[in-house]
Amino acid sequence: MSDLRQLYQEVILDHNRHPHNYREITSTCCKAEGYNPLCGDQVTIYIKLDNDIVTDASFQGKGCAISVASASLMTEALKGKHIDEVKKLFQQFHDGLTLNDDSHDLTELGKLAVFEGVKEYPTRIKCATLAWHASIAAIDGDTTPVNTEQDDV
Ligand code: ZN
Repeated sequence: MSDLRQLYQEVILDHNRHPHNYREITSTCCKAEGYNPLCGDQVTIYIKLDNDIVTDASFQGKGCAISVASASLMTEALKGKHIDEVKKLFQQFHDGLTLNDDSHDLTELGKLAVFEGVKEYPTRIKCATLAWHASIAAIDGDTTPVNTEQDDV
């Protein structure tokens, strides 16, 4: 394993052990749940918006290290972003993981690059994108829980 890959893995394991923003936001417009039955991941996302800017983001849930670390890093990444930027970031993250070509990767996405290695494990990609799907649902006011096996995600 390369040093970089090892560092990425350590970041993921660290966020899994000590997730950031692991709490409920009670007074918020935006909340959505996500399930990934293939792996057993469950997540609830809370997003607070002010004039379409994310002023706070948090999550609760349980699942594998990738799903928890992804939710943790995502809530960090979303704060201060306009909802249009959130959607663009999600698209870049999603494309970076699912489109296996040289023009799409995660290197431009700051800390989210730690999920680069997930590409090699296609069954785990939904673990990494679950929190993002739920966030988009939350922002769009879609209250139906996201299910990675039933929805076109
Ligand atoms: Zn998982």
